[in-house]
Amino acid sequence: MQLPGGLLENGTRRRDWAFRPVSGALELALAEVKEEAGCAPQAVTRALSLALDRLGGAVATEERVAALCVADRQYLMRELERHLGNEGGWFQADCRHCGGRFDFRIDYADLPVQEAGAGYPEAGIDLDGRQWRFRLPTGADQEALAGLPDTEALPWLLKRLAVDANLPDPPDRGLVAAAEAALEAVSPGIVLTVQAACPECGAGNAVDLDPYRALARPADHLLQEVHQLALHYHWSEADILGLPRARRQRYLQLIDRARGMAE
Ligand SMILES: [Zn+2]
Repeated sequence: MQLPGGLLENGTRRRDWAFRPVSGALELALAEVKEEAGCAPQAVTRALSLALDRLGGAVATEERVAALCVADRQYLMRELERHLGNEGGWFQADCRHCGGRFDFRIDYADLPVQEAGAGYPEAGIDLDGRQWRFRLPTGADQEALAGLPDTEALPWLLKRLAVDANLPDPPDRGLVAAAEAALEAVSPGIVLTVQAACPECGAGNAVDLDPYRALARPADHLLQEVHQLALHYHWSEADILGLPRARRQRYLQLIDRARGMAE
């Protein structure tokens, strides 16, 4: 599999990646990441470094995952959701026109992925006879940004993203807008908003698709399964969590079947 952007390391753009097989231990660790992380970008970094077996030909350390551009991280988080067995399905939205709640279906596999543009991960702008270069924001930038008031965030981030210094402080609005547009043009991207028609009134609705849904999976169901297997087979928690998910499910089916026969 190939990242739409990729990591630039020693002048080489590395795009290959692979997840580890899903075990209960991975599922449990992912379910606990959000509580343990200090902020959302840190949770994404932890989740991906836990789930990835390889990233760009090497181990997916938290530092390397944090160095991925934001769009690559969103892409991987949605792929992680699929890897955990959710290919999309039914979503709910409130119609902005009639206020009615409605369901619509999304299959992640149908959503296009935008590849990075030429010059990735940098973009140049030419404004009033001066040239500037900026790089795309990464997970590490998001983490540093977390906690900053919204009004200060954009100018602060732009200063951090400027490849060559001497950016006016604060950068004027024209410069901020031009830099944003140039960066957006080279950034890869996944679909974050879909159009869904309300079945009641027919109005089109732009609905946000959270790319980080893999972080919202509660551990309760998994723990229930561990509990059931532990009661039946008297295996340790670590042994049960070490099972590949498919095998865990199979044992649960066998317990169910044995129960059915006994009744
Ligand atoms: Zn409606």
